[in-house]
Amino acid sequence: MAVKTAMMDYAFFEGQIVPFEDAKISIGTHALQYGTGAFAGIRGYLDQDGETINIFRLIDHTTRLLNSGKLLRAELPFTPESLAETIAELVAKNAPSGDIYLRPFIYKPAVQLTPRLRGLGDELAVYVMGMGDYLDLERGQKAAVSSWVRVPDNAMPSRGKLTGSYVNSAFIKDEVEEKGADEAIVLNTAGKVAEGSGCNLFIVRNGILTTPPITSDILEGITRRTILALAEELGIPHETREIDRTELYLSDEAFFCGTGVQIAWIESIDGRPVGNGKIGPVSKQIQTSFFDIVRGRNAAHADWLYPVRKPAAVTA
Ligand code: PMP
Repeated sequence: MAVKTAMMDYAFFEGQIVPFEDAKISIGTHALQYGTGAFAGIRGYLDQDGETINIFRLIDHTTRLLNSGKLLRAELPFTPESLAETIAELVAKNAPSGDIYLRPFIYKPAVQLTPRLRGLGDELAVYVMGMGDYLDLERGQKAAVSSWVRVPDNAMPSRGKLTGSYVNSAFIKDEVEEKGADEAIVLNTAGKVAEGSGCNLFIVRNGILTTPPITSDILEGITRRTILALAEELGIPHETREIDRTELYLSDEAFFCGTGVQIAWIESIDGRPVGNGKIGPVSKQIQTSFFDIVRGRNAAHADWLYPVRKPAAVTA
């Protein structure tokens, strides 16, 4: 499914807010040539009040982005809090009327030929898009195990969102789309289940919600962390442990999770139905409580939302 997006008018570029068209870089940019960048994908949801955009776990995202920058030896004049403020300012400037997707990223701007990390400078830019569901959440996803393996931590760190690592994701996604699946499940070099091409994975077997550990070469997913916290609160038995491929085929429920995919239940894996091929009770419960939180219907988790109010003047 092609995701519907609409680019918003303003971006943050080289230290200031500028019209999106003016945010341009050289074709020789190091990050473009060698993938020496890192990015975040963040959602902002329109609150049930119709006035506020709730940016979901913004400080967690800015923290992870700056950590990815640290892996790249980036030196940037931001803390997680000051970067969050910059992002919130950009959102307010764009005055969105519905759900949004934010793409802050760090990149090495030098026009220089050697693939290295130091002496190239560091920049941070942000753009904003209007965005609805990335996957169709009304139906189950067809998943397929990819024959590519997840890039291991000692080749390129999966725990951070490094631009170059996404060539691995693109190979994985390409293969399973070719086979007619919606999304991939990828194994790591040890042959254990890692994650999707752009999302983490949970299975439910014998009533236990299970997800692979971070050391299985997966991204330190913020939605994954959210779900583990929700499972704890809701009293859903859960564990974090390595998962074998064949457990996928015996699971009663399975779902992908991530900022883009949100909570997307899996109907089949490699053509084998998961459970009875319908959304299962645990997946449903997690999905419902997730959307209650992001839409501002659960005050107990207001701490996960960074609210940005629509400026009153834009409606005039
Ligand atoms: N794994 C990969 C490879 C991803 O690209 C994403 C999307 N950011 C995720 C997992 C999910 O992470 P998060 O919940 O932080 O969006």
